Amino acid sequence: MKTLTPTGILNADLHCHSVVSDGTLTPEQLAQRAKTNGVELWALTDHDEVGGQHRAMAAASALGLPYLTGVEVSVTFASVTVHIVGLGFDPDHPALVQGLAQTRGGRDQRAQEMADQLAAVGIKGAYDGALKYVGNPELISRTHFARFLVETGVCQDTNEVFRRFLTENKPGFVPHRWAKLGDAVRWIREAGGMAIIAHPARYDHSPTAEYALFTEFIAHGGQGVEVVTGSHSAAEAIQYADMALEFGLAASRGSDFHSPEESHTDLGALPHLQGKLTPVWELLADRIHWH
Ligand code: AMP
Ligand code: MN
Ligand code: MN
Ligand code: MN
Repeated sequence: MKTLTPTGILNADLHCHSVVSDGTLTPEQLAQRAKTNGVELWALTDHDEVGGQHRAMAAASALGLPYLTGVEVSVTFASVTVHIVGLGFDPDHPALVQGLAQTRGGRDQRAQEMADQLAAVGIKGAYDGALKYVGNPELISRTHFARFLVETGVCQDTNEVFRRFLTENKPGFVPHRWAKLGDAVRWIREAGGMAIIAHPARYDHSPTAEYALFTEFIAHGGQGVEVVTGSHSAAEAIQYADMALEFGLAASRGSDFHSPEESHTDLGALPHLQGKLTPVWELLADRIHWH
């Protein structure tokens, strides 16, 4: 079997999005960008959707880029939306495919309610406006609304949109009930993959709820946590490296790249994991698609 050496300092990028969810590049364009940027192990992790996996794998293979299958599942835990990344699974496994289809359900209804709220504060046509940016009709997301609000000049950039709209207590925010933590971890595991808590610093949990998230996640069979991500500051990466060690979780690394125009962290442009951590790719070595 091929091995990745030296494992700890591999340029792995195991979190990004394509037009199959809320990114602006195709799986093929992302594969090329990852290769150009020196990524040595790549995963496409679209929200609640594995429809881009075969394309990503084929594109990576054609470029000689080692690939892990990926997904980012939306979960509701303690009334907060939490994202669980799955890596190294069979993308055609029925439990995973059906679970994700169920998780995607309700997005359209939510989007119409978001548009109604925006109309009530004077922003008309947001549903159709957001739809123009949607590549997958089952995956209309807040990001697509954000692009419409930038296009129409309501906000300067998507960060301002999320600050002023689309987040809790702001117009355009519609609370949504996503998958259960235990179900998301189970779908990933049944499909042969590893479950990983995405960007833990981003959640609005109390310290008690965060502790509960980590302990329940592990009880369900979760095995990893993102430590180095485009969503973490350097201080947060240190904080969650300590959490990974405290909870005995493997550590992941991923840019969460969505778009050349919107994302601060490009594919492959991340600090390395600290040497004392166990990288997730060490545990996933037999699930890497070589070329
Ligand atoms: P949704 O799944 O429809 O709730 O949309 C969530 C997506 O919105 C995330 O995956 C991000 O891509 C994007 N997002 C959330 N918060 C922000 C933010 N503060 N700035 C920019 N994008 C954000
Ligand atoms: Mn996103
Ligand atoms: Mn996320
Ligand atoms: Mn993401």
